[in-house]
Amino acid sequence: MSDEVNPFESLQEQIDDAAAYLDVDDDVIHRLKYPERVLETNLSVDMDDGSIQRFKAFRSEFNGDRGPYKGGIRYHPGVTRDEVKALSGWMVYKCAVVDIPYGGGKGGIVIDPSEHSANEIENITRSFAEELRPFIGEDKDVPAPDVNTGQREMNWIKDTYETLENTTEPGVVTGKSLEAGGSEGRVEATGRSTAITAREAFDYLGKDIVGADVAVQGYGNAGWIATKLIDELGANIVAVSDSSGAVHDPSGLDPVDVKEFKRDTGSVSGYEDTEALTNEELLTMDVDLLVPAALENAIDGDLAEDVSADVIVEAANGPLTPDADDVLTEKDVHVFPDILANAGGVTVSYFEWVQNRQRFYWDEERVNEELEAVITEAFDDLTDAYASFDLPNFRTAAYVVAIQRVVDAFTDNGNWP
Ligand code: GLU
Repeated sequence: MSDEVNPFESLQEQIDDAAAYLDVDDDVIHRLKYPERVLETNLSVDMDDGSIQRFKAFRSEFNGDRGPYKGGIRYHPGVTRDEVKALSGWMVYKCAVVDIPYGGGKGGIVIDPSEHSANEIENITRSFAEELRPFIGEDKDVPAPDVNTGQREMNWIKDTYETLENTTEPGVVTGKSLEAGGSEGRVEATGRSTAITAREAFDYLGKDIVGADVAVQGYGNAGWIATKLIDELGANIVAVSDSSGAVHDPSGLDPVDVKEFKRDTGSVSGYEDTEALTNEELLTMDVDLLVPAALENAIDGDLAEDVSADVIVEAANGPLTPDADDVLTEKDVHVFPDILANAGGVTVSYFEWVQNRQRFYWDEERVNEELEAVITEAFDDLTDAYASFDLPNFRTAAYVVAIQRVVDAFTDNGNWP
């Protein structure tokens, strides 16, 4: 993993790579490379021992041409301003590639949540929600879960906002629990889109997913659900990992059993009858499909030289650096990008928001059917662009489709002088 690559610069390079194929003025492209605004705030929060601790937090609103800013909030010690800016930009193009009516945003708090009690996390979350209150709203900016956040945190944000605004507005945030106005299928949605993308990718490339050897880096919500659903497609999960390391069994792992083991022991490491590997070893395994499902910059240009997978489907945001993309394109490794392959999360967030606004709720079958339609249609748009523009790789294809949609919205809206 490379810490030296700035994800914000990666985003800008990805936009430039695609813009080269589009007939769009440079000044219009230029404005698509910077966030409209970034909130940076310091939260002062009461700790259980009576002390007050400061936490740095960000919310980047990147672009609102296609609708309200949309994107998650992550809790991680490695959060930086540029990381949040990059993640908010990726949200713009993710929402555009699946054609849902949102712009892009992202937030983060610099924190290691494992060092805090539930009470402290609640205080920190409510403090951030109070800072966010003037910026968020169902028609303005709609947060959601991301790394180390989930239903619990979203429920607190909703409750804080509704209390301060003296209203009910469940669509101010998505990824809530069902009881608090969440949607069926939301928790599984990110991993589900990764599995749908893998299935479509194998089909498109004329490969068989049944019996395909698969390695997955990262066993959080997106990674583990993707693993389970790809296993259900008939693939053979030979290795999975988390931050503790990787486990390998060429005869195939049972994803549900590994998940239970991780729940009981805190990590996948030590899972019975497996060989221990490092994350780097997992990422360079000779497999049919590799799914990076952890953080940004997992594969840089150097590591990409050693990647032996045939196909990569990105469940994480930004797991490959632009140098890695260049190397993998050269090596003919087919990479299906994050902004399509993990877009299920924000797509079902959109369904949740629609249900909240209508106060009319769908069953899980309907959610999954609509998700399937959105992801397969986006896959077809992307592969059509890949073929008709004769593009070097599928990431550039995704950005060509997405940038054109944002530019069209900007052009039709007109620019306020
Ligand atoms: N954090 C997720 C992502 O990166 C979901 C965002 C959302 O639902 O708004 O796509």
